[in-house]
Amino acid sequence: MELELTHRMVVREAMSSPAITVGEGEVVREVARVMDENKIGAVIVLDQESRPVGIVTERDILRIVPTIIEIIRERSRILGEAGPSSPSLTGICERCGAYSMNLKEVDGMYLCEDCIADEEA
Ligand SMILES: [Zn+2]
Repeated sequence: MELELTHRMVVREAMSSPAITVGEGEVVREVARVMDENKIGAVIVLDQESRPVGIVTERDILRIVPTIIEIIRERSRILGEAGPSSPSLTGICERCGAYSMNLKEVDGMYLCEDCIADEEA
């Protein structure tokens, strides 16, 4: 589909629809998964009465991802060495710098699937 960006183009033609919404109590990782599944860069946040109270964008999530990684690292230190079943998470690959929804910890570094494939090759 070719979209022509003209001065007459209105928001209705550019928006993703329907609007994907999340509750304000949703965990950020789940929101990241919802964005990935729907191939969208933002979700509307609803309060308990289903009123829109905000918006979370991919950029917002990226900004806090280093914090999330720190929290998970801290937890895995507490729980001991994470095994091969360590959960995937969203963030920046520490080797290639790519944004990945499926980072895995390999030798203490969070790597994207591509870098893990390289590692195993
Ligand atoms: Zn990578």
